[in-house]
Amino acid sequence: MSTSRGVTTTTSYAQSSDEAKTVRARHVGFARASYRGRIIGLTLGFLTLGCALYQHQTPWWFWLGPFTHGFLWPHVGWWLAVTASNPRIAERRNMMVDHVAGGAWIAVIGFNSLPSLLMLSMMCMNSAIAGGVSQLLRGLLAHLLGVAAGVLIFGVHWRPTSTMLDVLVCTPLLLLHPITVGLTAHRLQSKLQSQREHLSRLSRKDALSGLYNRQHWWTMVEAEIQQLQGTGGTSTLVMADIDHFKQVNDAGGHAAGDEAIRRFSSILRQALRSTDIPGRYGGEEFGILLPGTDGVQASEVMERVRALLQQQPLIGGTAVTVSFGVAPFDANTPDATRWIKQADELLYRAKAMGRDRVVLASSSNASDL
Ligand code: GH3
Ligand code: MG
Ligand code: MG
Repeated sequence: MSTSRGVTTTTSYAQSSDEAKTVRARHVGFARASYRGRIIGLTLGFLTLGCALYQHQTPWWFWLGPFTHGFLWPHVGWWLAVTASNPRIAERRNMMVDHVAGGAWIAVIGFNSLPSLLMLSMMCMNSAIAGGVSQLLRGLLAHLLGVAAGVLIFGVHWRPTSTMLDVLVCTPLLLLHPITVGLTAHRLQSKLQSQREHLSRLSRKDALSGLYNRQHWWTMVEAEIQQLQGTGGTSTLVMADIDHFKQVNDAGGHAAGDEAIRRFSSILRQALRSTDIPGRYGGEEFGILLPGTDGVQASEVMERVRALLQQQPLIGGTAVTVSFGVAPFDANTPDATRWIKQADELLYRAKAMGRDRVVLASSSNASDL
């Protein structure tokens, strides 16, 4: 007892440690993307600030802050992020540093409108992407604090008019940043869409057989009934069950039983048309919906499945047989439950008659067709 508890604890510990590694890898990925973006953004940002400072012959020491922020800070920020216990949170803190510094540089360049607004909008966009409204609001506050600190340290300068040279120097950043953000958003959205489709496919399939699972197959049967009740037509539902499956498990173990289920599913796929709808109903019982097919035709298809079972034994050497109940749709069938029950009763008649046969409604033994 204690051993099994020990094993469970070790397994769940290993799982949680694996999950922690995956989460950390994602956080580091986020910090890496920010690092690259920060190097490019702050280099171009330095050019816009430098241009504004150059045009007003500001003292040399005014350049120190923007220079440090532009060329040293990205590497320090990256180091802080990857050595932190949570790189994503550390990266959000780094963004606050960007906001404070960005605010201070607004004071340094005398509130030159274009580069000031450009830096503010870039940093706000980054914060909104990284942490939504709360991070954005914190960022705005940090930016304001930065402006206040800048005014205290560098004094009040008021030169809000931007020149044509400012416009030219700001242009690369003005174009590059929204384009990068747009392309990243598009890439994420496509990834999300394909993951959603993958999950939706998975939720319809049975993992062992690869056929539709019971729930999805059932909804397909219901949809077929609605269509038949609306526009008429023929359709047949078959329930199939592997004979003496317990013996397969007993003789070859559960793995042999699973393999038999997989092989039977593959035989079904070989014998059916693309419009037929097979599903794993549960255990070793399968449901097959054959739209546009009457009972006799459906019985013939199941005979084909039986013939394939002879040619391709489900488990090495031993012949494993299957019984089938075939229920054509009739106008009095009210719902999926009733239709499936009809086919199930025919299946159990096939079992009672000695198994390995196809029983069609209103016939005593359709194998004699
Ligand atoms: P019958 O001919 O009357 O259908 O006999 P049977 O032995 O096939 O019928 P029964 O329904 O009593 O046994 C089905 C067995 O299938 C019991 C269950 O343990 C086994 N089983 C159900 N699902 C799976 C599965 O996914 N894999 C394996 N290997 N066995 C399964
Ligand atoms: Mg069975
Ligand atoms: Mg069964």
